Amino acid sequence: MMAASVDLETTWGSRSLPFTVVHQDRATLRITVVPEGKVIVYAPREASTDQVTARVARRGGWITRQLERFDQWSPRTPPRQYISGETHLYLGKQYRLLVREAERTDVSLDGDRMRMWTRTGATYAHRRAILRHWYKLQAHRIFPARVDAAWPGFSSKLAQRPGLIIRQMTQRWGSFTPAGRLVLNTELVRASPELIDYVVTHEMAHGVHPDHGAPWQALMSEKMPDWRDRKAVLERQLL
Ligand SMILES: [Zn+2]
Repeated sequence: MMAASVDLETTWGSRSLPFTVVHQDRATLRITVVPEGKVIVYAPREASTDQVTARVARRGGWITRQLERFDQWSPRTPPRQYISGETHLYLGKQYRLLVREAERTDVSLDGDRMRMWTRTGATYAHRRAILRHWYKLQAHRIFPARVDAAWPGFSSKLAQRPGLIIRQMTQRWGSFTPAGRLVLNTELVRASPELIDYVVTHEMAHGVHPDHGAPWQALMSEKMPDWRDRKAVLERQLL
């Protein structure tokens, strides 16, 4: 179930600070700045608009620093509002988002359209949550098949088939844990299958060679001769 939320705005110095308040069953107020450059405030149900706004204004300096930090972290991610007309990527293809109000929440693809149904008055936080949930479902459907496809190339080199963990990460596409698990960033589902395969192969090769030294590069070239081209595309792409 989604909590009630509302979009508000305050100022800090001359800067306008828009934020979304999500009212929840909680005792304390928590302010978060998400990598898309949005401020989300989780507030107790009884907190008034004035109280929440005053708290956000008081934390203006900290919020501004977080927003600037994310600007540096994610220079390749365009800001998104999750509104009709925006372009969103899925498996490397561009889809035009169409937001419609309905009694249900859902996302579906129709040609080059990505249709999102939201409840009437859905806020930025709602719309973002709906689309993230959909991307997560697709990641859980698609990534295991890509690992299956890559596994035969590594079955003689790794002691066992790596377990797959799919989660949201802000700074990397994937990793290979010391315990032998392959971690993939949910966001990678925005990239083409060729780029997903590159990240899977890259991380599996770390199961054999932990760093990016010559042995790792040789293994990459053996398993995926065009890996350098794919790497360059992934680094250039606005995901
Ligand atoms: Zn690496």
